[in-house]
Amino acid sequence: MDTDVLIVGAGPTGLTLANELLVAGGSTVLVDRLPRRSELSRAGGMQSRTLEALDQRGLLQPLLATGEYPVTNGHFAGIPLPFDPTRHRLPWRSVPQVTIEGFLEQHLAAQGIHVRRDHELVGLDQDGDGVTATFANGTTVRTRYLVAADGAHSTVRKLLRVDFPGRPGTMTAVAADVRLSTDEKVNTHTKGADGCWAHVFPLGTDPQGRPLRRLALGGRGRSLSRDAPVTEDEIRDGLRAVFGSRVELLELRYARRITNAARQVAHYRHGQVFLAGDAAHIHLPLGAQGMNTGMQDALNLGWKLGAAVHGWAPENLLDTYHTERHPAGAAVLRNVQAQSLLMDWAGTRDPDVTAARELFAAMAQLPDVQRHLADMMSGMAIRYAMPGTEAHPLVGRPSPDRDLGSARVHELLRSGRGVLIDPADRFAKVADLWSDRVDRIGAGADTEPMLIRPDGYVCWAGSPNDLEPALGRWFGEPR
Ligand SMILES: Cc1cc2nc3c(=O)[nH]c(=O)nc-3n(C[C@H](O)[C@H](O)[C@H](O)COP(=O)(O)OP(=O)(O)OC[C@H]3O[C@@H](n4cnc5c(N)ncnc54)[C@H](O)[C@@H]3O)c2cc1C
Repeated sequence: MDTDVLIVGAGPTGLTLANELLVAGGSTVLVDRLPRRSELSRAGGMQSRTLEALDQRGLLQPLLATGEYPVTNGHFAGIPLPFDPTRHRLPWRSVPQVTIEGFLEQHLAAQGIHVRRDHELVGLDQDGDGVTATFANGTTVRTRYLVAADGAHSTVRKLLRVDFPGRPGTMTAVAADVRLSTDEKVNTHTKGADGCWAHVFPLGTDPQGRPLRRLALGGRGRSLSRDAPVTEDEIRDGLRAVFGSRVELLELRYARRITNAARQVAHYRHGQVFLAGDAAHIHLPLGAQGMNTGMQDALNLGWKLGAAVHGWAPENLLDTYHTERHPAGAAVLRNVQAQSLLMDWAGTRDPDVTAARELFAAMAQLPDVQRHLADMMSGMAIRYAMPGTEAHPLVGRPSPDRDLGSARVHELLRSGRGVLIDPADRFAKVADLWSDRVDRIGAGADTEPMLIRPDGYVCWAGSPNDLEPALGRWFGEPR
């Protein structure tokens, strides 16, 4: 074997996974077909759960120190969701995808993992032991596991002949990075008279400190072919149709057309090959979810591959990547469908849709509804099914970031190992059997005991009798 894990694609998913494997241990090769990192702006929003994941690796503060990244509210179908500090310790941030990619790539390089560029995967041969990957430049890599993080048009998916079922794109809209003449409210969805709409998001600032905006423009009569170039005139015209003379285009930095295609593979695992990020699921970029979902796929898969490479992975641990992440991806596709309907993305001007939106917008003012939507859109509502222990409300959910005096829980996860919070040293004996994989941390007697996986999800809390089975289920045989 040349490597334990080969990651194809150095977008946010592949880069996050490489970092997870760095923390978990085991050799990794990360390749990308591009000769240099893409400077194309795409995602601009980071959700609370993704921010937590970076915090769990000690990367959040260094990332945020690279520039000014405003705190922003989330939204559902353009209906703003106020940030609730009691539920989300880390509020949404507006951090451009190019910044995240650049930061992660530099961090990996500093740790000795360099993206092998000009490596376009063109062939893949899987047998019982591993996978042989062939590249257009004539080189090959033999690997135990291969992860497809090669985006929406995934070559790996095609080489495996894996279907990508779902809905084809029926419409396009324009997504552009711009400077505008007014500080039009961000994260709002505004409709024009002729069924066209505009959505404005924050996108950080340019080098002169001037606010940049991601502008989405669409609606009836504005769905051009995906390949038709986006012109400044088209954007000016769209702005006028929605805002009149109130908002003008000052600078167009980048533009592309996006479609409402929505697809998800049926299985995330194919033998020794795993699909992650856009290679596994695509949808409209509504509510900052694509990149965030891909990075969270990587967070889920990384430690499990590490466990397999180190030989302590319990049977079926790798299969839980699919059973946990497929429903999470499917839920995102569903909420995006609902959002695109409520926003009348297609610009139908159907009065039934308008009535539904008005009703929904009124309901979204209710605190319980806001909480539900904010939890969903921030990634904090994710609850993985964990048979055997799920009766406890914490199990399957991201661990609370309690301050234990010596450290916060998320700081403890920086080791990449499991964490057992053990108030009053009740579980020292049993924890000792897994001490090479799980750190036992003492805490005040009133702290709730819990077992946390390396990806930050609680996998046991509550009944002491369930602890030993949970350790075995997630961390393998005792020493
Ligand atoms: C306009 C727009 C706005 C968006 N806004 C948001 C947002 O605010 N929040 C959010 O979460 N998401 C957003 N998204 C979605 C987000 O950009 C994607 O979900 C994200 O880029 C997916 O990351 P990935 O790493 O899975 O794939 P990609 O970013 O597509 O990376 C795939 C990588 O694989 C490489 N590759 C491809 N084929 C091969 C091959 N054969 N061999 C080797 N390498 C290969 C590519 O060069 C690329 O570097 C937006 C998308 C768009 C278009």
